Amino acid sequence: MRAGQAHIAVSQGGGGYGDPLTRDPQSVAADVTAGSVTAERAELDYGVALTEGAAGQWTADIDGTESLRQALRRERLGGRRPAGPCAGPDPRTRPFSLAIRIDDEGTTSCARCGAVVAEGGQDAYARLVVRDAPVSSVAPWSAAYPGSTRFVIRRLYCPACAAQVDVQVARRGDPLLRTAEPLRLDRQPGSLGGMRSVTVW
Ligand SMILES: [Zn+2]
Repeated sequence: MRAGQAHIAVSQGGGGYGDPLTRDPQSVAADVTAGSVTAERAELDYGVALTEGAAGQWTADIDGTESLRQALRRERLGGRRPAGPCAGPDPRTRPFSLAIRIDDEGTTSCARCGAVVAEGGQDAYARLVVRDAPVSSVAPWSAAYPGSTRFVIRRLYCPACAAQVDVQVARRGDPLLRTAEPLRLDRQPGSLGGMRSVTVW
């Protein structure tokens, strides 16, 4: 760079961890009050219904948030009614990722609703609901770069309850990236067995 030139970089928030619809609504409201999340994105991404109080303080409307989140889950499933959360994890399963549990046979199930995603040996990814959105829907600044339209934000959901299982950045039309591969437990003596994980789900 030469004197008088400027380099300007604009970035949005990071990817986060887990399904945004499970984040504590009051934490989201605090982020809006602090100015790190807009009220619009709080509704769209976190499903939090907000009330603005005096002096720019935002609070979450808990009932409104619950119905907004239910509507967003239904939208994820293309209008189907989503299953509710289960009472607790099946003791025969263990965590495979934040969203998916697995048993000794390699059967994967949803951590939120308990629905079986795929039997051992079946392709769990093929069972998930896949939704592609333009990159500009989460990164508005990218709209200034024509090449960005070649890419999509790809979200994968539990087909029963619409819990978010994975988020990927992909080229439009690319096949699904299988980032983790559940396997049957290898019962060979001395083997640790379990799963082969390419990257963590
Ligand atoms: Zn589920």
